[in-house]
Amino acid sequence: MRRPRDDTPGIEALFAELEGVYRDADALFAGWTCPASTECCRFGITGLEPYVTSIEFALVQRAVARNGGPLQAARRALPLDGNQGLQERRCPMLDASGRCSVYAARPFGCRTFFCARAIEARKVPHKRVLELVRRIEQIAARHVDGGDQPHRFGKLLERG
Ligand code: SF4
Repeated sequence: MRRPRDDTPGIEALFAELEGVYRDADALFAGWTCPASTECCRFGITGLEPYVTSIEFALVQRAVARNGGPLQAARRALPLDGNQGLQERRCPMLDASGRCSVYAARPFGCRTFFCARAIEARKVPHKRVLELVRRIEQIAARHVDGGDQPHRFGKLLERG
């Protein structure tokens, strides 16, 4: 992932707005935890990955830059036991201890427990989740033209 230079006018205000949505999302899912298998950060295992708007991706890129750049290979997560890792498509932000290295800036989709085991999280009213999605899309639309069109996170990471 390349180090970003996002000079969009008002970008800090957009980031602040997005972080406000993230706080609301975290509050909505408060009290629910996961077994931290890290499988959801291995897109090839779940066959699922977050869809991310431009502004969400820009915030991730800023967090990577603030961390001093992308995780070095030696600090990245290894394949899970019994898996050669070839098909895991691990997120490059997943570190060797199984933690997200950009946790505070992780995209909306990483906060909403799309994991099949997330039975409790699915009790959160869909309408409330959609309201947050709409707010993010509105912020993204003010970031770049077409910014309200979410893209597959893994694809964006490959592009850098
Ligand atoms: S950004 Fe963090 S939580 Fe999201 S897939 Fe990557 S490592 Fe996992």
